Amino acid sequence: MCLDTIMISGTAGRNRKTVYLDNAASTPVDDAVIVEMIPYLKEQYGNPSSIHRFGRDTGRALQLARRRVADLIGARPREIIFTSGGTEADNLAIKGAALQARKQDPERRCIITSSIEHDAILEPCKALESSGFDIVYLPVTADGLVRPSDLKDTISKKAGRVALVSIMYANNEVGSIQPVAELASIAHAAGALFHTDAVQAAGKIPVDVNNAQVDLMSISSHKINGPKGTGALYIRHGVMLHPLIHGGGQEFLVRSGTENVHGIVGFGKACELAREKIGLYGAVRELRDYMVSKVLGGIAHCRLNGPDDQAKRLPTNAHFTFYGVNGEDMIIKLDEYGFAVSTGSACSVKKQKPSHVLKAMGFSYEEITGSLRITLGLQNTREEIDSLVQALSEIVGELRSLSPFKEKYD
Ligand code: PLP
Repeated sequence: MCLDTIMISGTAGRNRKTVYLDNAASTPVDDAVIVEMIPYLKEQYGNPSSIHRFGRDTGRALQLARRRVADLIGARPREIIFTSGGTEADNLAIKGAALQARKQDPERRCIITSSIEHDAILEPCKALESSGFDIVYLPVTADGLVRPSDLKDTISKKAGRVALVSIMYANNEVGSIQPVAELASIAHAAGALFHTDAVQAAGKIPVDVNNAQVDLMSISSHKINGPKGTGALYIRHGVMLHPLIHGGGQEFLVRSGTENVHGIVGFGKACELAREKIGLYGAVRELRDYMVSKVLGGIAHCRLNGPDDQAKRLPTNAHFTFYGVNGEDMIIKLDEYGFAVSTGSACSVKKQKPSHVLKAMGFSYEEITGSLRITLGLQNTREEIDSLVQALSEIVGELRSLSPFKEKYD
């Protein structure tokens, strides 16, 4: 199948002109993924629950995808539940574990999470809070890292009452990688389950459910060059969750609804490719480091946010504060110059609120509003980075010259 035949020329033209540097928000779908999906949008339209040949064919496609997803994170296929994406996987983990715990032991009504989680975790936690659950939000360091000692202290105060600890694998704004295995063992020692939102980490750094010692892990397809609208929750064998979507009993009775077969097929292929290509993120890290040194060396009054220790930061992530400049103004200008970047989480933009992540890291209002997230993908090149840094330098200079406090930055 020739992909050009299914491309809309206007979209392809735009993609050629704009340099895409917002890979934490979403990634381009790999051509090989699209090719695998197409038959499931055309001739392979059977319902995977059907007994006849059409159903058996799509059923086999689901099996293969389940194995590929499981292989990416060191799980068994039976431990993978397909969802509509990272948000649903997070909701299922948080609410499913909380409701199940309440059934088994009404005293276990506490959930511990961090103050820098994605809204896909914070919002279900808030919803549970309003129905009687006790939620504790752990603070983070100025680098965006959860301290294991804070988890230990909180757990000992809540002895016997913690149902679940949920700490993200890597943060979507500043890229900080949490000490997940250490946190999980603290949770387990207290008899609590441990969930991690690995939506930003899986496929970019090695992630293994056994090394990480987690019971539940959320992942999402569109962050790793797969299609949108599909993802998965890993549920360790033996862990029970209360289902949130009731119906025909698909996905091992945990998540009903006819599976999004073409999306899942694409997700499976994306996982297989991510596993093969994980070594290429070494080059992405070098390109990111090159960009960081050029930005810090070439633009005054600018700092890099998040961990300095590169082992604690995603290879794709750079997050800066440009003092005296508004991040949204920078994004608009960069867009005019042909660069797509962001200030932080794409999902929070709709809420028009300052980043809760940067607030939790102790940033001032000026530091929050002057921040910019640049996230690289496998497709980015050194030439793109050179032209971005050139554009950024001009834009920051221009915006600062318009600032009422411009003398401060001369
Ligand atoms: N969790 C994290 C850390 C994310 O970055 C995102 C998306 O940006 C999500 C969850 C939500 O995933 P999805 O877009 O697949 O619903």
